[in-house]
Amino acid sequence: MHSKTITPVAGLVLDPAQRTMLAALCCLPLLEFGEEGLHGWSQLIVYPEAFRVERSHMDAAGVLHQGNDELIGEAWDAGPVILSWADVLADCADPRGGFCVAAHEIAHKLDALDGVLDGTPPLPRDWQLEWARDFQRAYDALVADVEAGRTSPIDPYAAEAPEEFFAVATEYHFSDPGTLQEALPDVAAHLARLYGRPPFATD
Ligand SMILES: [Zn+2]
Repeated sequence: MHSKTITPVAGLVLDPAQRTMLAALCCLPLLEFGEEGLHGWSQLIVYPEAFRVERSHMDAAGVLHQGNDELIGEAWDAGPVILSWADVLADCADPRGGFCVAAHEIAHKLDALDGVLDGTPPLPRDWQLEWARDFQRAYDALVADVEAGRTSPIDPYAAEAPEEFFAVATEYHFSDPGTLQEALPDVAAHLARLYGRPPFATD
């Protein structure tokens, strides 16, 4: 709370207790990793609810796509973390529901610490190799399930990209570890090593 600014916007007001709760949620993924996991950015921006962003990107064929997306959280490269307060409250009201937008965005920040947003945070070399192998295998299987129209064992948003897979799996670690353990035991084991024992672990 001393090194980051929490900035409520769009009419939102946050009292000291609410700011402390936000800070605690953002630190949840850092209990094992340490405070260096917060390096490289300085501002948490909080919207009252989901927020709209204009996007444009050039695809490989040189076509410019423009869109207007509604988001509940975002983590910019070397920039702020942005959260929807309404969604943070919804996560807290249902802490075992499988969603935790604050942990999701901090997972993106951990992922980006090594300069590449690819679903792999900075880890000792041997562990990183095992992580990359196990995560790739689990991600490929999930993508195959989603593409074949089979029921996805976790939120199918995880099949969007390897970095989303890591961030969504992080949400399950903190809020529904039983589902993660059953669906993706290798991934669950890596996350337990990265984050510590899940708070709602049953065994
Ligand atoms: Zn994400």
